[in-house]
Amino acid sequence: MANHNRDDLVVLRPEGLYCPRGDFHIDPWRPVPRAVVTHGHSDHARSGMGQYHCASGSLPILRWRLGEQTYHAHAYGEPFTLGQARVSLHPAGHVLGSAQVRIEVDGEIWVASGDYKRQLDPTCAPFEVVRCDTFITEATFGLPVYRWPPTPSVAADIADWRRECGERGEAAVLFCYALGKAQRVLAELMAWDAQPVLLHGAIAAGVEVYRQAGIVLPETRPVTEQARGTDYAGQLVLAPPSAAGSAWMRRFRHAQQGFASGWMRLRGNRRRRNYDRGFVVSDHADWPDLLRTIEQTGARRVIATHGNTDALIRHLCEHGVAAEAFRTDFGDEQ
Ligand SMILES: [Zn+2]
Ligand SMILES: [Zn+2]
Repeated sequence: MANHNRDDLVVLRPEGLYCPRGDFHIDPWRPVPRAVVTHGHSDHARSGMGQYHCASGSLPILRWRLGEQTYHAHAYGEPFTLGQARVSLHPAGHVLGSAQVRIEVDGEIWVASGDYKRQLDPTCAPFEVVRCDTFITEATFGLPVYRWPPTPSVAADIADWRRECGERGEAAVLFCYALGKAQRVLAELMAWDAQPVLLHGAIAAGVEVYRQAGIVLPETRPVTEQARGTDYAGQLVLAPPSAAGSAWMRRFRHAQQGFASGWMRLRGNRRRRNYDRGFVVSDHADWPDLLRTIEQTGARRVIATHGNTDALIRHLCEHGVAAEAFRTDFGDEQ
């Protein structure tokens, strides 16, 4: 199905997405000499690369997750040269410092989106539409059923849920990804709830990185600093999904468990994982925003990565856009 030709600015290699004219990879999953990394999630930022090119805003996150490496940080929109390619990074609106990669060679322009969303997020720069000939888009939620409610209303629901839990003598333990989602939920909660939020250690580390980068977040306290026998009724606690069902949970005795994720749009996902509540908040584009973004880029050709590429490709082909998929190792942050 793929009709690649040798002029393609990005091709799929066993190591990951590769730009032959610039001799660099984008978010490679195997060690390579030169990587352009779109953001800090573990399926995009891996150790073992000779050089890391990233957006300046992503640098503290990469340092937190990968330690000291050879980093080349670039301001958004500032072009740099790799091989014969003129490269620049542009906000993707996904997490702090996340970037799309714009590649230009001989007037031809390709953009690799990395992960992105269009909803406003107080913890990162908003997505920038970059016009291009070929757009490599993520398609994590590439099905028409995925449509996101406004995040402020979801934050209000979370605040209400915490109060309801308090009335029943329960803690409200909310599971969310430690990089991006937790900080976004915290920032959105500030408008609805003045009570400090308790954090699992894995979440606290990332929250500190965001604070150091100047992102305003509400008051938080580490769960580990709470005295033995603390009554957690009415407390909101953020924890990574890996803490669900672990011994760490026992301290709460009476607790409701919620999950903040785009996957919660499907009720079956919540029931299967035994969450009491699902809150639909995602750092990826929903179906209408995928289609809107693809149209706005003006791309004549689209290459989809991540999850549900089939429905998106079919839809685009039916609407006269040449669309295909790259089979990648990108996942869902976990
Ligand atoms: Zn991501
Ligand atoms: Zn991803």
